[in-house]
Amino acid sequence: MRRCQRDFAADHSGEVAQYIPELGKADPDHFGIAVATIDGHVYEAGDTDVPFTIQSISKAGVFALALDLLGPDRVEASIGVEPSGEAFNSIRLRPDNRPFNAMVNTGAIACCGLIATAEGDGTFELIRATLSRLAGRDLVVDEAVFQSERTTGDRNRAIAYLLRTYGGVAGDVDRLLDIYFRQCSVLVTARDLAVMGASLANQGVNPLTGIRVFSSYAVARTLAVMSSSGMYDFAGEWIYRVGVPAKSGVGGGILAALPSQLGLGTFSPRLDQHGNSVRGIKTCEAMSEAFDLHMLSRQ
Ligand code: GLN
Repeated sequence: MRRCQRDFAADHSGEVAQYIPELGKADPDHFGIAVATIDGHVYEAGDTDVPFTIQSISKAGVFALALDLLGPDRVEASIGVEPSGEAFNSIRLRPDNRPFNAMVNTGAIACCGLIATAEGDGTFELIRATLSRLAGRDLVVDEAVFQSERTTGDRNRAIAYLLRTYGGVAGDVDRLLDIYFRQCSVLVTARDLAVMGASLANQGVNPLTGIRVFSSYAVARTLAVMSSSGMYDFAGEWIYRVGVPAKSGVGGGILAALPSQLGLGTFSPRLDQHGNSVRGIKTCEAMSEAFDLHMLSRQ
């Protein structure tokens, strides 16, 4: 782990996300790696306590929350589980007008909408509290990133309006997007991502607090969708090379969860053309190989 941190720190390829102006202010050299095991040990190297916004990694937790809150029938009727093969912000829907899956923006916004039908004004607080339980500490929002996303989020606005024409979301689009932008602006560290991953790896029970966050059904289905779609249009390569369910975010984080073993969290803000952290991908590939983490090579 320390060797990965040292060796890959020399890789300066990729670009910090600029399309949300506030994200462009991130220090591109930050680099942290953390591992949390399901028996509660946490190992850290580098900048594991530097906060950054969770961005799309929140989509995994929010999908699991929706499954538990509304039941699989309702969620699966509104959101598909097929890889889209497209970029995270693609506006395209399936032929039946459902989003492809909950790990891309269309599906994540629909997922937020579903939770909002049940929780109304309490929706964001429920999401924040759930992500906090997954991490084992109270998480807060980066207000500057939230405002920045809100001002520049026309593409997500277009997605929400499109979904509304097909009944995929209902009600006030701006209110719904405020929940989605806030969810993406929750601050985490690489250590948090490792613990969140360990909670998923531990069938929904946070190994540090012992608190159950999700049912094992919701966790298994969420890990399944992470396996096929968590890394966007790199998902096939990822599951082939790394072989661990994972989710990335444009803030530079990657969360990986190996069932019954561990969670891995990485943070490095320079992204490749898919919107995935360059050093994060290298780290996960190297760790998977070094510790034989590929889930399909395990007997
Ligand atoms: N908030 C970002 C967006 O909606 C999340 C994208 C990401 O992390 N891939 O564009």
